Amino acid sequence: MPELPEVETVRKGLSQLVIGKTISKVEVFWPKIIEQLSPSDFNHRVSNQTIHEIKRRGKFLIFCLDQDVIISHLRMEGKYHYFPEVTKPNKHVHVVFTFSDGSQLHYQDVRKFGRMCAYHKNHVEEYPGIAKLGPEPFNETFDLKTFQQQLKKSSKAIKPLLLDQKLVTGLGNIYVDEALWQAKIHPETPANELKPKEIKELHRAIIEVLDKAIQAGGTTIRSYVNALGDAGNFQVELNAYGQEGLPCPRCGSPIQKIKVAQRGTHFCPKCQKKRGK
Ligand SMILES: [Zn+2]
Repeated sequence: MPELPEVETVRKGLSQLVIGKTISKVEVFWPKIIEQLSPSDFNHRVSNQTIHEIKRRGKFLIFCLDQDVIISHLRMEGKYHYFPEVTKPNKHVHVVFTFSDGSQLHYQDVRKFGRMCAYHKNHVEEYPGIAKLGPEPFNETFDLKTFQQQLKKSSKAIKPLLLDQKLVTGLGNIYVDEALWQAKIHPETPANELKPKEIKELHRAIIEVLDKAIQAGGTTIRSYVNALGDAGNFQVELNAYGQEGLPCPRCGSPIQKIKVAQRGTHFCPKCQKKRGK
């Protein structure tokens, strides 16, 4: 599944291709991809509107049109492909946007888990998937004090709590392991047992890990291909995730893999000590 940095890469790639284009029609071949509206209602609603900007909130892409937005979640396998002219869609393409200049954007999704929805542009934050998201993982939006207060209220293990997206959005299984490794925190540590210094380190690590990944364009794990179709231009250096048995880049101890809340979890047993040991 693409994580936030990969979705950000898609956003940037798509922005270069479709901003300024006016939708002339939308064809939907798999109605379930479109939430709330029938394919023809979706087509009527967004046709004749121009794409002015593409934003991102968590892992949702938000195509900003004249009055509406199209909110799109790629889930496991969703991908956008741009074609400068009308192109026959392959069998995994479920939505085709045709623009007034004849170019097209195909939404391809082998597993059909992705979803799209038209929403009024003033109500984006009310969309259920977005309403429950925590702040974006940047200095300007992710407040340390609020983060501290929220951690104090929970005795849940820190890793699943961060995967929840409520305290901060953007940490999937890869980057949560990386952030905890950087902050030297054991993934099973109860949130309310974290010391102020650890929370500060963690806050910084989350921002840094995601920023680095965004700069690098995301990882290429699971042969992820970005919107422009170029796979693997960039590779984020991973210190813990997927490094089982390899030496910790900080202390040389072998990275261990355990399960935490059913998720494969990588950590350094020496740098990330368990509480009480
Ligand atoms: Zn270590």
